[in-house]
Amino acid sequence: MAIALFIGYKALLNNETPVACIVTKGTQIISIGYNYTNNSLNGTKHAEFIAFSRLDKDKDKDKKNIDNCLDDDVDYGKLTLYVTVEPCIMCASYLRQLGIGRVIYGCSNDRFGGTGTILSVHKDSRLPNSPFQSIGGVCRTEAIQLLRNFYIQENVSAPVPKVKKNINIDEKEFPPVDTNLLQESFRALYGEQSAPVKKNQELTPIYNQGYCMSSLLTMKDLETVPFLQEELGNITEAQLQEFYTLFYDIDRNGLVVYEKSIQKYQLKRRKLDEMGIARVKN
Ligand SMILES: [Zn+2]
Repeated sequence: MAIALFIGYKALLNNETPVACIVTKGTQIISIGYNYTNNSLNGTKHAEFIAFSRLDKDKDKDKKNIDNCLDDDVDYGKLTLYVTVEPCIMCASYLRQLGIGRVIYGCSNDRFGGTGTILSVHKDSRLPNSPFQSIGGVCRTEAIQLLRNFYIQENVSAPVPKVKKNINIDEKEFPPVDTNLLQESFRALYGEQSAPVKKNQELTPIYNQGYCMSSLLTMKDLETVPFLQEELGNITEAQLQEFYTLFYDIDRNGLVVYEKSIQKYQLKRRKLDEMGIARVKN
């Protein structure tokens, strides 16, 4: 999930909404996806669609339409999708039609969540195709924090950019833990020795141990991620360091350490400042 979050951050650097995913087969990452709705001006180009359409495209470069994503030769039941935000209703339906094996997501999607928050497309018995498991709450606060960094920015594409005032994400609390990760799922994910999840605690990779982003992700992890650098640009040590500073630590009790100061992503704000300077000069 840390890798998916970093892809989301790279998407943010590219002026996209920071929602991203990876697709794994066993321990191997076989595809990645990130929201591509702003640059493409196409509201359906969600991270999940990008990730799975690539799987088919790489098999046969002539096949690029969406129908061909439902390729019989790919055993989607063996794949796991890690996505920073709960799939929307559209994507949940897509994933069910593909026959995805399992979905693990970060934060809930309060407006359009398709795997439990608004609709439960993943397990609705009235729908065709097999149900799939969807587990939420993994790196939940980090996924929210990335989105907050996006939404505090000004929309420089707007004809008259609005400067958003009084938006402060420092020490802004996170909504209550709403993970649907059950004890058995937790053990399946983190091993038999892991203790059950406690209510109102963030998930930590190792029970009774806190974590910070720099403990989850290194440059080495990112260098092997397919498609990432080709599509979203080179990864620099400075970017990784900035990425770390966007998030709060989680302590050993699964609580957010609000005392630690966090940085805010500032690219668009800088752009707006430059525009402001340009206007003054004119
Ligand atoms: Zn979606």
